[in-house]
Amino acid sequence: MATPEFRLYNTLTRRVEPFAPADGETVRLYTCGPTVYNPAHLGNFRTFLFEDLLRRTLRLRGWKVKQVMNLTDVDDKIIKRAQEQGKRISEITEPITEIFFRDLEYLRIEPAEVYPRATEHIPEMIALVQSLLEREIAYQAEDGSVYFAIARFPGYGKLSRLDTRSIRAGARVAADDYNKEDVRDFALWKAAKEEDEAAGAAWDSPWGRGRPGWHLECSAMARKHLGDTLDIHCGGVDLVFPHHEDEIAQSEGATGVEFSRVWCHGEFLLTEGAKMAKRVGNVTNVDGLREAGISTSAFRHFVFSTHYRKQLNLTEVALEASVSAVRRVDEFADRLYATRGGTAALAVAADELEQDATAALFDDLNAPEAMGALFTFIRKANAELDAGGKGDGELERARNAFGAINKVLEIAPIKRLPGEVSMSPQELIADEETAFDRGVRDWAEERVAARRAARERRDFATSDAIRKELESRGIEIKDTASGTQWKKVR
Ligand code: AMP
Ligand code: ZN
Repeated sequence: MATPEFRLYNTLTRRVEPFAPADGETVRLYTCGPTVYNPAHLGNFRTFLFEDLLRRTLRLRGWKVKQVMNLTDVDDKIIKRAQEQGKRISEITEPITEIFFRDLEYLRIEPAEVYPRATEHIPEMIALVQSLLEREIAYQAEDGSVYFAIARFPGYGKLSRLDTRSIRAGARVAADDYNKEDVRDFALWKAAKEEDEAAGAAWDSPWGRGRPGWHLECSAMARKHLGDTLDIHCGGVDLVFPHHEDEIAQSEGATGVEFSRVWCHGEFLLTEGAKMAKRVGNVTNVDGLREAGISTSAFRHFVFSTHYRKQLNLTEVALEASVSAVRRVDEFADRLYATRGGTAALAVAADELEQDATAALFDDLNAPEAMGALFTFIRKANAELDAGGKGDGELERARNAFGAINKVLEIAPIKRLPGEVSMSPQELIADEETAFDRGVRDWAEERVAARRAARERRDFATSDAIRKELESRGIEIKDTASGTQWKKVR
């Protein structure tokens, strides 16, 4: 089967277009990360899950991905919060950052390659402002702050399609966030106020003490970690203006080359519907999901049931539907790995799954359709498994196709799949442990104990043979002061 073309909607052109990374190999992806002053809410995670789907689909297509997700750890909101609580900004942002990483892991969002913090990139931001000043598209105003002169940058408004006549050249806005009617010169570097100094949010610069504007942070961090031109830049739709428009202005203004080839925006999660519901009435974040007993698989299923460019309502009915849908996937996965053979029709259904789900994902990340293909497969495969069958190859084919598509959606825990299991006894969550997991664990523990006994009687030939036996089944062992640890690596 020839690899189908990968297509993605580009906000810049307002069209679905064929996409490939500029170097043909690695997709350089920048995703605007959280402002770490509050634990991220489920709306934020809808966006981060859409980006997770994107990176996994890019990998399914055979490309490598270098994803950068920044952590905004200095901005208006954070300083305000620090001021209210009489704290320094780091005292606000550090605990929230920890919660963010824990939540990402809970939702099984694949980690980005780099998570740069804004406060660790001040010199890069200053350098960017300096090149804008040299090119005379920025100026220092009488308030001491440095502003971007939008009238001096002809491309201003190209992403959000602003009517340039509405631009009020020379008028200024200092806030990090403002609305579309407010098209004015925006602050790159803000002169420090007393409350900034008190909160530890001021740095030395050629223009005096001050701090970066929010938009500047992303331009500088993207450039530092991914170079002058990115392949894809993502965020939620609310970031199109002013944030991304201003990022383009700063980056292209400074470098003279295109900042991002493609711009990709996820639609909003709406939570009004949830307010009335019993079970999800108070669910606004990942802790709430946990408490309401909504599993990671169920939440991923819920998010992927709607195309990323459509609004999604958080409702009790939809979440309950996802809870039962993933139960079916789980039961099926258990069965697929416990069974011993398959029919010819099972292998045919597996081919269809891989073709249909891949085509859907490559067509602007159509996850609802890919999940549809997965459920069609489960229905057909269940019927084939009822019928019996002895084919090893056919069964293997079904496991591989299911594994490949689930590797993108991850609506069933991946560790259950042979060849993809990654677990240590410590990592196993009891209620997600399958018969397959238990089998591997019992066997590995028995072999590790036998190896220990061999070593105790100084029978190193046997102990080495057991290590090789474990390795041949993808289990790595490590001898530590507190005993031997093992881990499934493949
Ligand atoms: P913030 O921490 O506010 O900068 O937001 C982090 C990310 O979440 C950004 O990409 C936002 O566009 C996105 N976002 C914020 N609210 C929602 C929402 N209700 N639904 C989907 N994405 C959102
Ligand atoms: Zn950003």
